[in-house]
Amino acid sequence: MAYFKAYSHIGVHEEMLKDHVRTNTYRNAIMHHKDLISGKVVLDVGCGTGVLSIFCAFAGATRVYAVDASDIALQAVEIVRENELSDKVIVLHGRIEDVQIEEKVDVIISEWMGYMLLYESMLGSVIFARDKWLKPGGLILPSHASLYLAPITNSRRYQDSIYFWRDVYGIKMSSVMPLAKQCAFMEPSVETISGENVLTWPAVVAQVDCYTIQAPDLETITAAFKFTSMLQAPLHGFAFWFDIEFNGPVRQKVKKQASQPLDVDMEISSPGNKKKKQDVSIVLSTAPEDAPTHWQQTLLYLFEPIELKKDQIMEGSVTISQSRQHARFLNICLKYFTGDQWYVKESVMR
Ligand code: SAH
Repeated sequence: MAYFKAYSHIGVHEEMLKDHVRTNTYRNAIMHHKDLISGKVVLDVGCGTGVLSIFCAFAGATRVYAVDASDIALQAVEIVRENELSDKVIVLHGRIEDVQIEEKVDVIISEWMGYMLLYESMLGSVIFARDKWLKPGGLILPSHASLYLAPITNSRRYQDSIYFWRDVYGIKMSSVMPLAKQCAFMEPSVETISGENVLTWPAVVAQVDCYTIQAPDLETITAAFKFTSMLQAPLHGFAFWFDIEFNGPVRQKVKKQASQPLDVDMEISSPGNKKKKQDVSIVLSTAPEDAPTHWQQTLLYLFEPIELKKDQIMEGSVTISQSRQHARFLNICLKYFTGDQWYVKESVMR
């Protein structure tokens, strides 16, 4: 299958491993839950190079089943051997839906998130693994995920891709602009913006509790929003981003950005700090104001910018659904009203 073939290419794994925000946050989360991993059996859904399995072995897991359907699993076997962990980390080359494991597990770990959380996401496979292999009361890392949407302004992008055509070496090429808009803005684009591009607080589009979510919950997600622009600026589009949390089965209250320096080991080991440890939840954020990750943000650009006034209200709704024809495609339908007119933007993330 083409999907698993893509993951046999080392470059994909290199990019994920070099995403320090991602990989360090997973490592922090694993060490933070050392008490629940040590002496326990772990299942790593989509182990890739085996990095998370090996972190779990370092955290004291008795056994880790590292499962991957892609040929990268063959490399994971060698990596595990190189680290003299072959007695603890058992690599299984196959789909999680097909492999046989000797026992039920205490912990599931997985890095399943796709662009805008849900694109090519393997959450369905994590749900399958949870229902088939996790002991009641077991731990799932990450435990929760949230998808956000916010209106954005990005004049630089509009200048680069659209207004560029007004004057090309002194030649007028404005006639190309409608085609340029189609080509640049028809489909969602994955790019990095900053906090300065964001016009107001985001709306929550989806909240996933990995302990309870069911596969049909993911088929269609609809959320209403009401934004009040904090700036006078042209509205160029909307941005999606997500964060994930590493909690136990009960959601904890205080969020802490893991992209900020956080020495979890220190917190665990410092005496009298039990309460703090419980209160802090580790978060991997892909928000524009946080350190960039390989997920970047997913942008939906409008063909025509809308001039927004400060405090102007935009309301509407967004629907994200799995394509019927291609299970991995996402259909995104955005409807919004800026005070005088309704707009609809439909696009496919393919
Ligand atoms: N855990 C690794 C790799 C994450 S990428 C890391 O953190 O670096 C996700 C991996 O999951 C890919 O290698 C892909 O081949 C694998 N995968 C996706 N769906 C799967 C399934 N249904 N069964 C087994 N492996 C799967």
